[in-house]
Amino acid sequence: PNVCEIRGVGYSYGRGKKALDNVTFSVRRGESVAIVGQTGSGKSTLLRLMCGLEAPDAGSISVAGVSTAKKRGQREVRRMVGYVMQHPERQLFAQTVAEDVAFGPRNLGLSADEVTRRVDHAFELVGLGEKRGASPFELSGGQRRLAAIAGVLAMEPELLILDEPTAGLDPRGRARLRELLADLRGHGVTLVQVTHSMDDAARADRVVVLDQSRVIADGAPAEVFSRANEAQLRACGLGIPKPLAHARGLETAGHAPLGDPPTIEALAKVLNATEGASGNGI
Ligand code: ADP
Repeated sequence: PNVCEIRGVGYSYGRGKKALDNVTFSVRRGESVAIVGQTGSGKSTLLRLMCGLEAPDAGSISVAGVSTAKKRGQREVRRMVGYVMQHPERQLFAQTVAEDVAFGPRNLGLSADEVTRRVDHAFELVGLGEKRGASPFELSGGQRRLAAIAGVLAMEPELLILDEPTAGLDPRGRARLRELLADLRGHGVTLVQVTHSMDDAARADRVVVLDQSRVIADGAPAEVFSRANEAQLRACGLGIPKPLAHARGLETAGHAPLGDPPTIEALAKVLNATEGASGNGI
């Protein structure tokens, strides 16, 4: 079953050229989808429409079967989608991290017990339990971002949308955030992220590539980043994941064909397999 259906979507700001042109794809329940594309390709516009902030000019978007064509549907979709905007930590405002995380669920008019349950669960997911009583300002940048994400998770969204979740974090913060996204996926959370990192995109179940307002590729990372697509990706200003570049480099240096391993784990696996096959393994 699809959580989000995007069919033939077009959108323009005022009378300018189209920011989105005939965009079609769907997001299945429990799936992790990465959206990549150079600046101006339409990524943020697409996220705004998926969140129900506006209706598309053409085509349709629905979340859990609810269309965003009308205001009423948009309101309903906004309640179902958790939107983690760029630098969400800038929106933290409460005295303590726990208060901040509880703010959203409390606003839903849930019982105190239910609010507590959701806040506890959100802290469990992001692993900031020991900082519950701290002021957001006492946290590191990475911890602040996790706190902001916990606030969105506490709303228990049908679909979690993140705009550049690792941008601006130090390497440790980035690693922790990637770990969180992997955990959320393990918990069956449906996840859509915009990212500039091809390495992050390679870890998703699916990659959707936008270029000049259109979808130019949509598939599993190994497919989208395959050799056949490489020239096209470069033409629209995108690279390939590092492990894949290493595989190409090894082949150029004389290694047997390694296929299209998009992640470091996939590269390790194919290297082990080829070393084993040639009988000179470790
Ligand atoms: P991305 O997120 O991939 O950088 P955007 O969705 O921000 O792409 O932009 C897509 C296109 O829409 C670009 O041509 C951009 O200039 C234009 N655009 C974005 N926001 C606005 C706006 N508020 N008003 C007018 N044009 C906009």
